[in-house]
Amino acid sequence: MNCIVCAGSTHVGRQPWHRYCPSCRYESADLAPLINEAYAHSQVNESERETALKSVRTENFKIIVERLARIAPPTAKRLLDVGSAHGWFLDEAAKRFSVVGVEPDVVVAQGALARGLPVRVGYFPHVLEDGECFDVIVFNDVIEHIPDIHSALEACRAHLDADGLLVLNVPRSTGFFYRLSKLLARLKWRGPFDRMWQKGLPSPHVHYFNERNLDRLVARHGLRPVQAFHLRALSADGLLERIRFAGQLHPVALYAQYAFLLCALPLVRLLPSDIIVCIYSKNG
Ligand SMILES: [Zn+2]
Repeated sequence: MNCIVCAGSTHVGRQPWHRYCPSCRYESADLAPLINEAYAHSQVNESERETALKSVRTENFKIIVERLARIAPPTAKRLLDVGSAHGWFLDEAAKRFSVVGVEPDVVVAQGALARGLPVRVGYFPHVLEDGECFDVIVFNDVIEHIPDIHSALEACRAHLDADGLLVLNVPRSTGFFYRLSKLLARLKWRGPFDRMWQKGLPSPHVHYFNERNLDRLVARHGLRPVQAFHLRALSADGLLERIRFAGQLHPVALYAQYAFLLCALPLVRLLPSDIIVCIYSKNG
């Protein structure tokens, strides 16, 4: 199998379904998505997942919208949020832009629609009109789930205005927690590594990038990097729910992990971040 970034040969990695490119460091997983399948949803307590992620995501979304407000031309109005989920990014972005969300998970989309958010149920770009264009297209924790990423990026270029911006908020292969999970997998403790790839969840990760190979991939679609910045992957609020939500941990193990992470948080902030936001411009 060849690398989707540099076309070099890829090697088998830490699991039979994991591959990496020794040349550009791109990583991939052969894990199938199960969106809208009842089995995968039964593995996750949706309300706990919501509590677990809300506080750190909302903090991060505020930062992204503030950056966008500074970078985008004053005339920029229309913003598309691909994989808008519960609509938390739409809530923030609506303070500056005229927003539209796209969400394939019917149950999740209906929750956002019930809150009055402008969400189209289905997949990007099929739910868009031909020739429908946006000033900003945002993927928050979404593009790393899309197997045919080249088609998705080509659709971004087609649906961006002449000086439009593309925002990719993705997990980072050089982040501390991802590298720690790889080290643990080498020592035969594979749970954290599977968790980083979201194996067994409704929509697992299929790509892991760093800044360099992501820029290189996106450049193939005529979009040039404008700015990149890191975000925090953890905050104290919602931490307990986050450790609990996908696992069947014994209460002692659960609280031990919680206490450890809570004490380690100030240190974690000094380590390489696990989230990168890259902003690209069509106007190169
Ligand atoms: Zn490569």
